[in-house]
Amino acid sequence: MASIAKFLADREIALISLDLDDTLIDTDAGSVARLEAAVRRVHEVDPHVDPARTRAAFEAGMLANPVTVGRMPAFADALGVARDSEVAVAARDAYNAIILDVLEWVEGAEAILAPLRARYRLAIVTNGATDFQWPKVRKFGLQDLVDYVIVSGDYGVRKPDPAIFEHLLAKAGADAARTAHVGDSIHTDVAGARAAGLTAVWYPPRHREHDDPGEHTPHAVIETLADLLD
Ligand SMILES: [Mg+2]
Repeated sequence: MASIAKFLADREIALISLDLDDTLIDTDAGSVARLEAAVRRVHEVDPHVDPARTRAAFEAGMLANPVTVGRMPAFADALGVARDSEVAVAARDAYNAIILDVLEWVEGAEAILAPLRARYRLAIVTNGATDFQWPKVRKFGLQDLVDYVIVSGDYGVRKPDPAIFEHLLAKAGADAARTAHVGDSIHTDVAGARAAGLTAVWYPPRHREHDDPGEHTPHAVIETLADLLD
């Protein structure tokens, strides 16, 4: 597509909704530090564990696709313990405990929000528990950088359910036809936006393999968030 900005202008888009995880915030940043924390916890829970096993678990965690398999299930499997065993749960808690410390902006995301907001009203529509997503929003000050924040846990509906976008439209007093949603997931962002009658802009994952769009064809695809302004 020659120009995403022109495409959005032709559609008279006035509100842009953005996914949070892996669209604005890189949730996979700090995987090394998080897996190292998991290894330390395993050695605390079981001081006799062979370090060769925790090394293997660390490597399996790093190699795992964080979205499909998950790093900690792969970690537990390579450690040779059940995924719901005491040691695996303790390791997972250690892995999750430092997520807020290691999250980073997706490249270019921080710089794009002010110029984008000069042209559009902005929203975040994110799936996840209230207690998990809001701390991420606040860590990056996103509540002040966009006009509306919709966390699925607050509403009891998740993307791709169109109802979550209907909550946004009601809150913003916006029309679906003049609203675009940008996200990395075909199955939640693109499918959900389409189901709600929004313009679906796909931002394919940068660091991992991504889904085949299949029937959920996005209306537009971007390579970087800056494409929204060009
Ligand atoms: Mg996402």
